[in-house]
Formats: sequence, C-alpha cells, structure tokens
Amino acid sequence: MKQLESYFGSLVFDDKVMKSRLSSDVYKSLKRTISDGKELDISVANSVAQAMKDWAIEQGATHYTHWFQPMTGVTAEKHDSFISPDSDGRIIMEFKGKELVKGEPDASSFPSGGLRATCEARGYTAWDPTSYAFIKDKCLCIPTALCSYGGQALDKKTPLLRSMQAINKQALRVLKLFGNENVTSVKTTVGPEQEYFLVDKDMYDKRKDLIYTGRTLFGASAPKGQELEDHYFGVIKPRVQAFMNDLNEELWKLGILAKTEHNEVAPAQHELAPIFATTNIAADHNQITMEIMQKVAKKHNLVCLLHEKPFKGVNGSGKHNNWSISTNTGINLLEPGDTPIENAQFLLFLTAVIKAVDEYQDLLRISVASAGNDFRLGANEAPPAIISIFVGDELQAVLDAIETDKPLLSKASGSLKIGADVLPKLPKDSTDRNRTSPFAFTGNKFEFRALGSSESISCANIMLNTAVAEELKQFADVLEKSKNFKEDLHQLVKKTIIEHKRIIFNGNGYDESWVKEATKRGLLNLKSTPEALPYYLHDKNKQLFTSHNVYTLDEIHARYEIAQEHYQKIVNIEALTVLDMVNKDLLPAISKYTKSLADTVAIKKSLSANVDYESAQLDDISNGLAKAYSLKLDLEKVLESKPTSSVEEISLYYKEKVLPLMEEIRTVIDGIEAKVDKSFWPYPSYGDLLFGVR
Ligand code: ADP
Ligand code: MG
Repeated sequence: MKQLESYFGSLVFDDKVMKSRLSSDVYKSLKRTISDGKELDISVANSVAQAMKDWAIEQGATHYTHWFQPMTGVTAEKHDSFISPDSDGRIIMEFKGKELVKGEPDASSFPSGGLRATCEARGYTAWDPTSYAFIKDKCLCIPTALCSYGGQALDKKTPLLRSMQAINKQALRVLKLFGNENVTSVKTTVGPEQEYFLVDKDMYDKRKDLIYTGRTLFGASAPKGQELEDHYFGVIKPRVQAFMNDLNEELWKLGILAKTEHNEVAPAQHELAPIFATTNIAADHNQITMEIMQKVAKKHNLVCLLHEKPFKGVNGSGKHNNWSISTNTGINLLEPGDTPIENAQFLLFLTAVIKAVDEYQDLLRISVASAGNDFRLGANEAPPAIISIFVGDELQAVLDAIETDKPLLSKASGSLKIGADVLPKLPKDSTDRNRTSPFAFTGNKFEFRALGSSESISCANIMLNTAVAEELKQFADVLEKSKNFKEDLHQLVKKTIIEHKRIIFNGNGYDESWVKEATKRGLLNLKSTPEALPYYLHDKNKQLFTSHNVYTLDEIHARYEIAQEHYQKIVNIEALTVLDMVNKDLLPAISKYTKSLADTVAIKKSLSANVDYESAQLDDISNGLAKAYSLKLDLEKVLESKPTSSVEEISLYYKEKVLPLMEEIRTVIDGIEAKVDKSFWPYPSYGDLLFGVR
C-alpha cells in the first residue's frame, strides 16, 4: 500500500504547491487575499492561473471548471477545456487570470427564486481563494461563489462567507474587550459527521422508488431489524471495508481528512467523520465527500444512499455539525481554558450561543427542514423537532451558581464571580449521553445534530453564525460602554442565563413529557417543513439577516420560495412514483398471484382436495388488492385537485393530503407483501436490501 503522506492532498493546489510554484511576491499577495479577503490583482491572478494550469496538466487534467453550489444544495460544474487555437491553426493550452477569478456559466436552469429573470440568465462565478482548487476526474475544479449580475447571491457559498464575516467582525469587538490585541481574525470551524447506507447495486436497480426518490416507498419489514444492535460498531464486512479503503484514499488525495469510520445503528448503515476545518472549507469538503461516496460505491457495485430515511422502521441518516469558533492565534473560544479571564471569555461566548439558539430557534429548525428530514426529526431516532441545548450537569452547575449568586460547591464560601474565580474542569463529552439533544455542548464545541444526511451544511451554519454574530454585537454594544468591565460582564452573563435558560434541557429529548414541558416553556415545536418554513419571513429574521449583510430581503424571499417549491416537487415525485409502482408492477403482480391461487383452488376442488389455505389466502389477498386499488384512485384524485393558491397552502396540502394517502397505500401493500409467494413480488425485499451486502 502506498504511503499516506506521499499522496495526501496530491490532487489539491494547496499551500505547499503554491509555495513551490509561485514567485515569492505572487505567493505573498495571494496569501494576503486568503487571510484578509483582499481583492486579487489581475497580474497576480494571471501568474496564479498559469501555475495552476501547468500543475493541473501535469496531474493529467485537460479541463477546468468553476465549481459552485446552487441553491438546490447539490454542486454544479461546467467543464471548459484548456485548449485554445493559436494563430497557426494548432492548439495551445491556455488559462488566464480572468478565467480563474471569474466565470460566466449559463445559470438559467438553476433556481433563482425570482432573483433573476431567465432572459438575463447569466450569473457569474467568483473564485473563493480560501478554498483550494482541486482535481476531480481530470478536471481542475475551482471553488467559486455564484452571483447574479446585480450582485445577488444565487448560491449557498456566498451567504456562508458573509455569515463568517459577520461573526468575525463581532467576535473581534468582544475579544478586544478582553485584551486580545494580537487576534486579527476569528473563524468558525466545523467537523460534519456523515451517515449513509450502502446497498447492492443489482438490488437497487430493481427498485424504482430508490432510483427516483432515494427512499423506499414500499417494503415489508424484514424479520430482523436493528433490535439486536449488533451492527453498531460491529465488524465491518469485507466488501464494505474495501469500499471504505477506496473512499479514504480518494478523499485523502483531495486533502479531505476522513478520520473515523464505523458501522451505525441500522443494518447497512455507516458513518464517516472528518477532522474539522474552517466552515466554508468544511462545507466544500462535505459536498465533495458526498459525491465521492457515491462514485466509489459504484465501483464496488454498491449504491450509497444519502437520503434521510431510506427505510421505514429503520433508523435514518443525519449529519452532526460539530461547530466552534477559533482565533487566528489558535484559541478555541468554546474551550473553557484554565484562568479566570479565559473562563470569563468562554462564558460570554457560551451565553451568546445560548441566547442565539433561543432567539433564533425557528431559523435553526428551518435550516434542517426538508421533506426527507421530516421523517427523522421527532421520530425517536433523531433529535426532536423542538430545538433545545444540552450543557451537561457540570456546566449546568456553573450556570446555576451564576444565576443564583450561590457558591459552586456546597462547601465553598462566597458566590462564583466571573473573571475572578476559576471554573472546575468540564468533561469532554465523547459518549452518547446527549444523543437525544439537537444541540449539545461537548466540552469545547457544540454539536448540532438535527441536520439531514443529504443536505448541504451551509444553511445550518449560515443561521448559526449570523445568530451568534447578532448576540455578540449586542454584548459588545453594552460592554464597550462599560466603566466597570468585570462587574458588568458578570451581570450580563447572569441576565442572559436568566432570560434564556428555557432553551436548556439536559433530560431525555425522546420523552413524551419533554414535549409538554417545552410547550410550557414557550419553545417552538415545528413538526414539519411546511410548518417551519413560513418563519423564514418573520420580521425579526429579516432584520437579523439584513443588518449583518448576510441576505438582502430579495435573497431571503428567493430562498423561501425555493425551499417551498423544492418540498412540493419532492413529495410530488414520490406520489407519482407510488402510482407508477402500484399501476405497473404491484397491482398486476398481486393480481397474477391471486390468479394462480384461483387456478389452484379450481383444480384442487375438482379433485375434492382440501382448499382451506388457498381459498382463505385468495380471499384475504383479493380484499387487500381491492383496498389498494381504491386507495390509489383516491391518490390520483388528490393529486389532480391540488390547490393553486399560495405556496404555503400547497406545501401543507402535500403534507396533509398527499403524504398520508401514500402511507395508507403502503401499509396495505406491505401487508400483502408479507403474505405473498416471493417469486411473484416485483421488487427486492427489505431483507435483500438491508442484509444483502456481505
Ligand atoms: P468524539 O465524537 O469521539 O467525541 P471528537 O469530539 O474529537 O470525537 O470529534 C467529533 C467531530 O467533531 C470530528 O469531526 C471532529 O473533527 C470535530 N471537532 C473537534 N473539535 C472541533 C472544533 N473545535 N470545531 C469543530 N469541530 C470539531
Ligand atoms: Mg455520530
């Protein structure tokens, strides 16, 4: 096996490559752009482009693309070759600075939520020099942001970068108050843990539901599910291990630090965790990871399912967004530290997060809302749809002591004074004791656990960064005017705890009593996407985004419209797939089976044989068939009479009328599947899919 160090990052135009291939002036100038966001001079861009092209061609690349993340959450690329004609009618390989920094893809087919009339289809892409270029399938990929000519963000990267700027600005103000003179930038960091399923490709190819919708719309449970919990952290099967080895190698070449891999709770479910990175890079890397997972799986005749709920009755897949804030001097601001002043700074950032999560619960909920994730949140396998924070007993004791002016330990004398006293050591939580919390403090970072497995992590981090930026701004506004910093700091932290402690819940989030308790506390419980999305447009949220220059009003409306439409399209495709499967495969197959039963009954009767089993079975299955038929007529009708009013009403209609009918049909069909001769069934079973990879 090749040495990891020899190929790690070999397909990335990273710092090492830049240093060796750029003149020192060009290198310095580019580094300034990367660290301070200074605009790139065109002569510098030309030199960088030249070096990048030469390097890429040496690595076998023939094309380049501006790689971007439109609002649909996938990634997009349009390949251009390096080839240019020269004056002799031959070709030269060319790539100029302006092609590096700016591209003009025909973006008319990407949703713009009304931001750009299709007649002025052209948007432009602009290089994000803080995310390294890389080579994928012989193509030099340049990470870029996508904007309209009016400057409106048409993608997920632009607002993410803006939200990072917002938190940088406000955190620097706060840090200055604590005397951190040499800190010049603050960045949020993310390590997203990715869950996924692997199924055999031959089985997958026989399932229209997986092909069209990414999840099974039918399927009787296998006799065995996840109840023995023998899959979790169990021995990895050889075929899966081969896939993981290949996957790691591909990711490492791209400089993605895939670190741990293990089996998850459900059969055929696995997880990959990378080492954390700066948020925009983590978002890019997570998009690439999802893409490479699917590609590598195909090589092993497997299919990687990223859907949030591919199988009914089996745990779905999520993404855990481990999030923290760091300075350019290497301090993790959510690390309590050792001295009273470090502790004080930590407590201020901590309470900023607590206040942010409380005041912007709705935005965090929206950031993880999707048709797929609706099957997970609150289904006792994932965090509930109610957003709350877990801090753990040790930190809770600290917060209680501050709130009540009581000593931290019963034996101690005097109350806990922020900035004067040292906090006890907090445990770093690597266990699962916070499994049921959507937003858990884990010692030196928060883990936002409600994200769906297929979603881009950008949205969640845009909301989180911006909300925390707002609270830091409010804190800085107060403390910058303070005449008695330590005392005012103490009072501010105390006041914040008192006003926002309702968002803290250290108990079992799956417990029914929590739902009641949360209602009493006035916390939101937005159970589905159509119920959550309208909060996007609330005044306080518009105010938040516009005041921190993360979204303009138009950009907010565009994202809202797209999210609503996306939800409707997903459910519509699923409903049409149900009808297709029922009409073309399932009802005919069941009917054939009843015919074989009827034939048997006729023959056996003529021989005066006992037909107890066949006639009971014939009766039972025929009744089921009739029921399924009548329900599918209902579904056809419901789909035909969709309202055409507001987007809100249409989404609710899909949730309340369409999805329940799909579920009813499924229940009837699954009941039949459980009793029918397998040779008649048109699709591989749950058993085949979940236990088929050996
Ligand atoms: P465990 O789950 O065993 O406790 P860790 O807490 O070390 O493991 O890490 C879980 C995930 O959190 C990993 O993806 C890791 O890179 C990430 N992570 C660790 N520290 C930070 C941080 N400061 N900021 C963001 N993510 C982090
Ligand atoms: Mg996990």
